[in-house]
Amino acid sequence: MAFEDLLSDPVIQKYLHELVGPKGMPVAAAPPDGEVTDEELAEELDLELNDVRRALFILYENDLASYRRLRDEDSGWLTYLWTFEYDKIPENLEEEMYRLLEALRQRREYERTHEFYLCEVCSLRFEFGEAMDFGFECPECGSPLESMENSRLVESMDDRIDALESELNVEELGA
Ligand SMILES: [Zn+2]
Repeated sequence: MAFEDLLSDPVIQKYLHELVGPKGMPVAAAPPDGEVTDEELAEELDLELNDVRRALFILYENDLASYRRLRDEDSGWLTYLWTFEYDKIPENLEEEMYRLLEALRQRREYERTHEFYLCEVCSLRFEFGEAMDFGFECPECGSPLESMENSRLVESMDDRIDALESELNVEELGA
């Protein structure tokens, strides 16, 4: 798959941006064909060598880049030759979305099955059991804890879950 096609996809751009951050983005967004050294990238992109290395290492940790080491026989210096492996991006993205979906489903279940109390002064939220232990008074400021409605939060989670499910083409089991 051509890198240019992948990189024109805004979802993939966002994914890379989240991985490497704004400073690493010039590195992640301009993958050369074939091998390249960190020094070459730093010079070509006019970046700090450390920022380049950091971005490369993050890509490496996420299976999106690999390297091999060459030792200069005279100086003993090591050179790292990097290869970008962006053909793994779609697979990684899908895994990421499944993880997010699972986390959201668990979180929604927690929100649905618990009752919450709020200190409006401190913006602290307590589960029912905790609130009862505190005699429905905020342990920080002593204000009364008010029963808190979380159905709007659950609804917005429903929307995100539905969107992810349709993007992944999955349906919730037993839903
Ligand atoms: Zn309080």
